[in-house]
Amino acid sequence: MERVRFAPSPTGHLHIGGARTALFNYLYAKHTGGKFIVRIEDTDLNRSTEESEKVIIEGLKWLGIIWDEGIEVGGDYGPYRSTERTYIYNPYVERLLKEGKAYLCYCTEEELEAERQAFAARGEMPRYSGKCRHLTEEDRRRLESEGRKPVVRFRVPDDEVIVVDDIVRGRVEFNSKDIGDFIIVKSDGIPVYNFAVTIDDHLMKITTVIRGEEHLSNTPRQILIYKALDFDVPKFAHVSLILGKDRSKMSKRHGSTWVEQYRDAGYLPEAIVNFLALLGWSPQGEEEIFSLDELIDMFTLDRVVKNPAVFDIDKLNHINGIYIRKSPVERIVDLAIPHLVSVGYVTEEFAKENREWITKVVEAVKDGLPYVGDIVNHVGIFFGDEVRLENEEAAEVLKQEHVSALLDEFLNMIKEAEEVNLEFAQGLFKELRKKTGVKGKALFMPVRVAITGQVHGPELVNIIDIMGKDKLIKRIEYTKN
Ligand code: GLU
Repeated sequence: MERVRFAPSPTGHLHIGGARTALFNYLYAKHTGGKFIVRIEDTDLNRSTEESEKVIIEGLKWLGIIWDEGIEVGGDYGPYRSTERTYIYNPYVERLLKEGKAYLCYCTEEELEAERQAFAARGEMPRYSGKCRHLTEEDRRRLESEGRKPVVRFRVPDDEVIVVDDIVRGRVEFNSKDIGDFIIVKSDGIPVYNFAVTIDDHLMKITTVIRGEEHLSNTPRQILIYKALDFDVPKFAHVSLILGKDRSKMSKRHGSTWVEQYRDAGYLPEAIVNFLALLGWSPQGEEEIFSLDELIDMFTLDRVVKNPAVFDIDKLNHINGIYIRKSPVERIVDLAIPHLVSVGYVTEEFAKENREWITKVVEAVKDGLPYVGDIVNHVGIFFGDEVRLENEEAAEVLKQEHVSALLDEFLNMIKEAEEVNLEFAQGLFKELRKKTGVKGKALFMPVRVAITGQVHGPELVNIIDIMGKDKLIKRIEYTKN
């Protein structure tokens, strides 16, 4: 059975790239009938925070990427947080030390820096020279008496080709002489990522490691550790980077990079999942809209592409728009209210007491929204009694000769109406045409501009229904004066 994992370091937010890695692991596990594990890799004590762990976990849950085993849910191979596993790593460190496959190194940061510079000066790749490889017991005692605290370094074989047979990238070769003896345990006794991840993946019986391409250079180190401990090496699939539209690495400049930012802007999780799946993976055929179940059905690693994926926000907006249109209005109302509150269009109490009315507002614009937060840019017409003409085109509409009489008649009909609702609005224009002899665009456009200030917008009958009698009267009068 396949066992795969997502192993975030809790040092920040759930990035789009991380979410994509999690999704690919999830889809692969579900497609193959395997298990998906989430493990927290908090080996970097200075940068790991509880808050970040929470944000990442919440982000995954929000996306519906649910794990079978791991943090919070537990399982047979816990604990699922690196810092709680030190006691598990230690015997393996001891074993490598005893077998001479690792050794203590006492070099100071200054000494290492000097070495790096010497390598660089010779035009060689900076790496550790192996200076402490052959220390005697006596050397060690002397260095320790100077107050030096050792790190543990892995003894890298001198001239060995390390092959990563990557499912996505094919055969990638590394030469051990470019690697240099690397640290596996820091002087504070905490194993570094490369060591912890290897032990964890082995003990958790991970069969396929699916992760971002940025980890490819770590893989030969991990393979050396697997071999030194006689562990089976898992399969690897390194998924390409995500680039912005300008082909540079995805960063803040390209828009939001965290899942929470998209959630807060009113993107729907199923749309994000759909979009993320297409970042570096492609199904057969032209169709691009897929539910999670459909993705599970179709996902295979051989359709993960080697080329970098390009993050196209317009595509995300397009996909998200489709999911918004498919969603029941009630769901969009719930998501829209905080946005309407945040710009001061309504208060929370008002929204609660006037939910039906808010629903009509949302319904009027829902189908054109790329993300729910965008609603605030389209519903300004329903709030306030002043009408601002949006542009010259709108102003021109009102300058036409017949408009003054038309608006007078419209105002009269509104004033005389017992109730201004959808039914009334639907009959209104026929009546108005009869009374004024004006029809078509010449009839609708001036009314639209007079009450909204805009030449485009939701259906006019919906606008009239939503604005209601009092607001319509105030707004027409505002326009007329
Ligand atoms: N903890 C690593 C990260 O957050 C993941 C490493 C891995 O998947 O092996 O980037």
